[in-house]
Amino acid sequence: MDVVAVVPAAGRGERLGPGPPKPYREVGGIAILARTVEMLARARAIDGIVLVVSGEEIARAEGIVPEGAPVFQVVAGGKERFDSVRIGLGEVPEEAEIVVVHDGVRPFVTVREVEETVAMARDVGAAVAVTAPVETVKRIEEGRLHATLDRDRIRLAQTPQAFRTGVLRRAYEAAMEEGFVGTDEASLVERIGGEIGLVEADRWNVKITSEEDLRLAEWILREVRK
Ligand code: C5P
Repeated sequence: MDVVAVVPAAGRGERLGPGPPKPYREVGGIAILARTVEMLARARAIDGIVLVVSGEEIARAEGIVPEGAPVFQVVAGGKERFDSVRIGLGEVPEEAEIVVVHDGVRPFVTVREVEETVAMARDVGAAVAVTAPVETVKRIEEGRLHATLDRDRIRLAQTPQAFRTGVLRRAYEAAMEEGFVGTDEASLVERIGGEIGLVEADRWNVKITSEEDLRLAEWILREVRK
């Protein structure tokens, strides 16, 4: 296996109302996580997929893996996303050159986004899918507006995020030593001074977080991805 995807999907999803956990909620009759895996499997670059899910949901996750998808491991995640990805990375075989991290709840990722992050990670060591903010961005302190940031110098980081496997392993080791917990993997690589390329993400690579996002996802499926 040359390129392995690690898919964190072990969040508790407290922002969503009652019902099954987020990755198993359905959009167009198919579980969000199943859609995500299906999209990753379409990218020819990806040879294997590790799913990181909540301990109680391992059987459920195994049950929704689409036929033919190269999922070779389903493991229980940890307390923070940081822990879940670290556990998933532990399952990535030694020989894998590239690891791609992609949120289980971003089912509209495209083959282009995956392939471009993989190619750029091979090239420079790491790559992140980003969007440019359309709003004016403010920094707040103690609940008050403090400053306006230069929007041209801001990017919002999404997934996929791809890395040379050695780079991500080293970044994790450094973070663990320093007790740093990041909300994405690129932030760990930034701390060890690694170069990180940018890949422009599509408008529709949304993270399904709230009840509203579920409605948005149904709309995207109907109107954009028909
Ligand atoms: O919490 P956040 O919105 O950043 O979650 C992004 C992804 O990370 C989701 O797919 C979620 O299931 C996953 N996650 C995880 N383990 C956690 C927390 C979040 O795998 N402890």
